[in-house]
Amino acid sequence: MKKKSSRKNAKFIFVTGGVLSSLGKGIAAASMGSILESAGLKITLMKLDPYINVDPGTMSPFQHGEVFVTDDGAETDLDLGHYERFTKASMRRQNNITSGRIFNDVIQKERRGEYLGATVQVIPHITDEIKKHILNLASGNDVVICEIGGTVGDIESLPFLEAIRQLRFEIKPNNLLYVHLTLVPYMEASDELKTKPTQHSVQKLREIGIQPDILLCRTQRKLNKEIKRKISMFSNVEEAAVIPAMDVKSIYQVPSSLQKEGLSRVLQRKLGLPVVDPDLGVWDKINETVDNPKGEVTIGVVGKYLGLKDSYKSLVEALTHGGIHNQVKVNLNWVDSETLEQASEKGLQTLKKCDGVLVPGGFGERGIEGKILAVNYARLNKVPYFGICLGMHCAVIEFARGVGKLDRANSAEFSKKSPHLIIDLMSDQDEKGDKGGTMRLGEYPCVIRKNSFAYRAYGNREVHERHRHRYEFNNKYRLQLEEAGLKISGISPNGNLVEIVELEDHPWFLAGQFHPEFKSSPREPHPLFHNFIAATMKYRSSNDKP
Ligand code: GLN
Repeated sequence: MKKKSSRKNAKFIFVTGGVLSSLGKGIAAASMGSILESAGLKITLMKLDPYINVDPGTMSPFQHGEVFVTDDGAETDLDLGHYERFTKASMRRQNNITSGRIFNDVIQKERRGEYLGATVQVIPHITDEIKKHILNLASGNDVVICEIGGTVGDIESLPFLEAIRQLRFEIKPNNLLYVHLTLVPYMEASDELKTKPTQHSVQKLREIGIQPDILLCRTQRKLNKEIKRKISMFSNVEEAAVIPAMDVKSIYQVPSSLQKEGLSRVLQRKLGLPVVDPDLGVWDKINETVDNPKGEVTIGVVGKYLGLKDSYKSLVEALTHGGIHNQVKVNLNWVDSETLEQASEKGLQTLKKCDGVLVPGGFGERGIEGKILAVNYARLNKVPYFGICLGMHCAVIEFARGVGKLDRANSAEFSKKSPHLIIDLMSDQDEKGDKGGTMRLGEYPCVIRKNSFAYRAYGNREVHERHRHRYEFNNKYRLQLEEAGLKISGISPNGNLVEIVELEDHPWFLAGQFHPEFKSSPREPHPLFHNFIAATMKYRSSNDKP
């Protein structure tokens, strides 16, 4: 029988990034996780974020991209979404730690007198707190992969780097690895790949006292032997551990691409693990479908955080997963809800080219009437509609106005004056209290009604989905709207909360109070995304589009 991994024999891989941000550290860490897991190891991942917010929950999606919600209701960095999509590891609150949380905990301990007599300092108090969080993840896992946010050279991430430097002396030599992701840019004018940014980035890391064991070199062109040798010599990393991370078409090709460059062997050798070839067959199959779709569909996504595509990261991925399992390419037509509101005809023209309409989650009044207009278009024209959280609020408001004869129906989030607050604050939500971490967050059960789009998709009477919202369907209007034809196909087990609404006389109209996108992965697409894409394919073929 396999020995249960304990904290003592767990291996740690620390992933840092250099040169510039957005090199794909999260995907690299997740891919490493996937490679090691496919070689039979039990892995987990964590992200250390250097900002002072206790969690990203209060940040604008423009600032930070999507806030990823875990089963236990933590609002976390979007990289945790990659970790769950690439591996079987399940993320929780302890898998994302920010400087804010560390400082907050240390200050609270100081107030409680836990350091009585001491001057509380970054070293050792802050670094000890960081190390405690990292080491806590070891139990039950063979390997902990820990990604450090930011770029080497940032002032902010220094305490994290110092903490992982110290761990070199607290963890057995074979049990700890530093992996550094850098960039090897290609200069068009001189037709060469440049190694200097990598050299400087490694120098910066060594100044802090960290000598990387493996370099992942993000590059557009193949790295020849000579370049690898040069990087190896200047950075003091053995040549076999200079691994090219080539640009690829889909993020799901990264594990196989890194594997082809020999990453698993280097990782296993350096960690003193038996060298086992990972079985990446699932990924190869997924990538084959991505490369050879049998058709395509176009989805109109009506949102307002369009400047930064990362704002809808999990959503985009979940739509892609739905496409993979229906063997079609999913094109996204981003429709700005404010533009739709102001110049509705132009926006509607864009929607008319789509095979399905999706209104995702969001906050605040801006652009809301544009979203409601999009629902109206989908309802009247029998275009498949998928509403997510705010997209459900819009669907219910539109139905109440258009069918339920409540023409001033609204949500308390947008209009306090409306005589019909179809969507309202939940009784336990207090508008004046703290904003951080106070919404309905995390996984909740939902009972599904038979004979519904939801039941056909899930094939199950009870499902569990992740939530992140303050407002809910107002039960005062439940009967009235049901009588007008709104179908309530998902409710909380005690019957108090409406979780899914549908329209019957429609090819596919479903809106849920939760965020199914957080639970979708390329290996297991979320059933609602799977069925929504299938409905859009039907719509497309019935409209005779090739
Ligand atoms: N703004 C809405 C609420 O707080 C919806 C949130 C969301 O779409 N995630 O209830």
